[in-house]
Amino acid sequence: MGLLSVIVPCYNEAENVPCFYKEIMKHSAFFEKENIELEILYIDDGSADGTVPAVKALREEDGRVHLISFSRNFGKEAALFAGLEKSKGDYVVVMDADLQDPPDLLPEMIGYLKEGYDSVATRRVNRKGEPMIRSFFARRFYRLMRKISKTEIVDGARDYRMMTRQMVDAVLSMREYNRFTKGIFGWVGFRTKWLEFENVERVRGETKWSFWGLLLYSLEGITAFSTIPLSIAAIMGVLFCFLAFLLIIFIVVRTAIFGDPVSGWPSMVCIISLISGVQLFCLGIVGQYLAKTYLEVKKRPIYVIKEEL
Ligand code: UDP
Ligand code: MG
Repeated sequence: MGLLSVIVPCYNEAENVPCFYKEIMKHSAFFEKENIELEILYIDDGSADGTVPAVKALREEDGRVHLISFSRNFGKEAALFAGLEKSKGDYVVVMDADLQDPPDLLPEMIGYLKEGYDSVATRRVNRKGEPMIRSFFARRFYRLMRKISKTEIVDGARDYRMMTRQMVDAVLSMREYNRFTKGIFGWVGFRTKWLEFENVERVRGETKWSFWGLLLYSLEGITAFSTIPLSIAAIMGVLFCFLAFLLIIFIVVRTAIFGDPVSGWPSMVCIISLISGVQLFCLGIVGQYLAKTYLEVKKRPIYVIKEEL
């Protein structure tokens, strides 16, 4: 059938690197039967532990294992992009190193691609083992995104996905610096089959995502795939202009009828602080987009490679 590239972003996953390899190799009989060759690309995202030596050790044993090592931590999105760029496969699958993306789904995914789908994506049906508050905010985020973005971003969707070369090329053609991969996959379209699975907890090590990290990442998603917040700022501006206009008429008429006693200081302070708050809020929204635009126009590389094997 062709070559299958497995892309594995790794950030401090020394223990998981060999485990992952073992789990994939459990399916080698299937790959042979289907006439599929493998290449496994470990993308080391500037790990500080023994991830690189672990990959090198694997490579000694098996030439199908490749290493791309970044000069520092660039984030998972950058690692995914590098992997897609370096992959040569007719089919490409993206998987986490911590085995939270069950390799047991691989045969099924290949089956669907053979049926004619362009991509097979996965979503977890539950969030077992995750802090309650995190699940709560994650759900809110996806609901909000559904309302404010035209791009389909599925709740519980993981980055675990198998794609044809055609779709990979489409993803690679989006060279934006602020990468929100979940949105990018949805944006490029193509016929996608969704598989569902129960959440699996990480085998070893700890998640790299803090609550704050996720919050900032969600802002990234919003600014990258919706401009509604800018419209909200504009609408709020118009509403407050209208309100101010009514207020002016009211005050002029009142002064004309009742004269101008020195009063109204508290209401003035309230109005000024309310409106300046709204102004700062809107300015902040514009600032978010400006910051993203600033980073985009610099056209910095998405990642820097230190070592490639
Ligand atoms: N990862 C990465 N760079 C980062 C953070 C994470 O390459 O800066 C990798 C990590 O090694 C793992 C995958 O991205 O293979 C998912 O990370 P993690 O398991 O921490 O996220 P979670 O599954 O908790 O969402
Ligand atoms: Mg994980």
